[in-house]
Amino acid sequence: MDDNYRAAVDAAAIFSETDLSGRITYVNQQFCSISGYSREELLGANHRILNSGCHPPAFFQGMWRALAAGQVWKGEICNRARDGSLYWVASTMVPLFDPLSGKVCRYASIRFDVSEKRQLLHTLQWRVGHDVLTGLPNRAYLSDLLNQALETSRLAPTELAVCMLDLDGFKAVNDGYGHASGDLLLVEVAARLKGILRGGDAVARLSGDEFVLILRQVQGLRQLHGVLQRVLSAVAAPYAIGDQQISVSASIGVTLFPSDNDDADTLLRHADQAMYVAKQSGRNRYHLFDVSLDQEVKATHQTVARLRRALTGGELRLFYQPKVNMRSGEVTGFEALLRWQHPQRGLVAPGEFLAQVEQTDLIVEIGEWVIDRALAQMQQWQAQGYRWPVSVNIAARHIQRADFVERLQALLGQHAAVAPRMLDLEIVESVAIENIQRVSECLEACQRLGVQFSLDDFGTGYSSLSYLKRLPTRTIKIDKSFVRDILRDHDDQALTRAVIGLARAFGRQVIAEGVETVAHGELLMGLGCDVAQGYGIARPMPAAEVVGWVRGYVQPHEWVVLK
Ligand code: C2E
Ligand code: MG
Ligand code: MG
Repeated sequence: MDDNYRAAVDAAAIFSETDLSGRITYVNQQFCSISGYSREELLGANHRILNSGCHPPAFFQGMWRALAAGQVWKGEICNRARDGSLYWVASTMVPLFDPLSGKVCRYASIRFDVSEKRQLLHTLQWRVGHDVLTGLPNRAYLSDLLNQALETSRLAPTELAVCMLDLDGFKAVNDGYGHASGDLLLVEVAARLKGILRGGDAVARLSGDEFVLILRQVQGLRQLHGVLQRVLSAVAAPYAIGDQQISVSASIGVTLFPSDNDDADTLLRHADQAMYVAKQSGRNRYHLFDVSLDQEVKATHQTVARLRRALTGGELRLFYQPKVNMRSGEVTGFEALLRWQHPQRGLVAPGEFLAQVEQTDLIVEIGEWVIDRALAQMQQWQAQGYRWPVSVNIAARHIQRADFVERLQALLGQHAAVAPRMLDLEIVESVAIENIQRVSECLEACQRLGVQFSLDDFGTGYSSLSYLKRLPTRTIKIDKSFVRDILRDHDDQALTRAVIGLARAFGRQVIAEGVETVAHGELLMGLGCDVAQGYGIARPMPAAEVVGWVRGYVQPHEWVVLK
């Protein structure tokens, strides 16, 4: 290269020449400045003197292969300066040919300093995955970290804990000491959390005062308990922020993989749910997510959804069980009982599905359907000349609805041909007890509409006299569990006798459930209870069979004789 060109290159770039073995034969001033070596130290030294160790051997092998083949090589190289610091150069390596032999005789390299650009790139990349305030991985990076941890835990296989940590009382710190203090506190919390974790564990900041801990290789609950206790005490230790002493604590929700065998997002959600429980149960504690409870809840959700489809899809039925005056043989009415005509399982009794929806509003929808159908059935029987009162069972949640009376009135309005007094609502004692004031008011309002009430399953709950007094139901139903054993159990007989006496004293009608045999009926009549329902009279039947059954009904002659 002639001197003019060399001067131009020297002014523009970092320039060097090496021989075929990589020994430096020429460096310019810029080369000396950036590397921190003097010209004397560099000349004759191998170019490897600048190797930073940042590139794998294959990187340089590729470079030498290109050069040896007479090609120009371009790339960004990280070099190490004399003082140990790193710098990046964009390099162009050019093989120079001997004009006589036509063979490669040296290499020239022209470089530009790109350290700043590299640094910027690095910062940008870091920022994408980190929280700037605390320097912890952020939500985006957490998801990578968690997936990696899950992968390792699956292969190992080891237990892994996903913990959601939320500070208690952080808002008060922000409000009371200002956001700057709040930020300092978060930085300190992050530092304390990082200090506790072992290699392989990770902590990330999700948002605000929410952190996630990934604990790998959990060895049993005891060890986990130890770690979490340390985390709780570390967070709860006082913070010196400026000249203030600030205290906060943490609530932690934990879920354990693989017992909770789900994807990263679901595990985080479970940890979050558990954290909420920890908060609810008093803060500054951790709570372990309960997998079996979750499955139960999911199963209930499924049941509710399935039953709702049954309701809208017309799979529910009402069966009717007669109530009979044993002495006169007269049919005094019917109790409507719910059945589910399940496409696969066949006819399902309410005991198998109602309990799962009793705490949901679906029970209200079902209850209204039952009332509506029962009224429609009464109307139909009435048109055929039969006036049978029908009782329906009303769930606790349903009767406690603020709009119960209003909705009942609307349903009655839709079947105006049926007199309200033909409808009887059966409630169980326990329903009323939870909310006696409200229920007795509701009862009275319904009674003003003309609707009747029965106290169902009497004797199984509190059966307190004061409740009986405050719940003016027209009828008391003796529970079938007593009736069943009256023939051989003196206590049950005494109880039944007492209930019948109570009903009399309070001016109520009494009806015995679960009369399974003629003998049961005889004894009940002897005790003063004439009205009964039970398998001994008839099982609950579809509406279509009712008229035929009533026509054919003849009471047992033992009951007639007792007249
Ligand atoms: P419950 O209101 O006490 O109804 C009486 C239950 O005893 C009925 O069971 C009936 O079939 C059964 N039973 C009748 N006679 C005899 C007998 O002689 N022996 C025996 N062992 N059992 C007899 P079912 O139909 O399975 O209903 C069970 C419970 O489910 C009912 O008890 C009631 O609490 C509830 N239920 C039924 N239908 C409805 C409804 O439409 N809505 C609500 N909320 N609950 C309902
Ligand atoms: Mg009942
Ligand atoms: Mg009952």
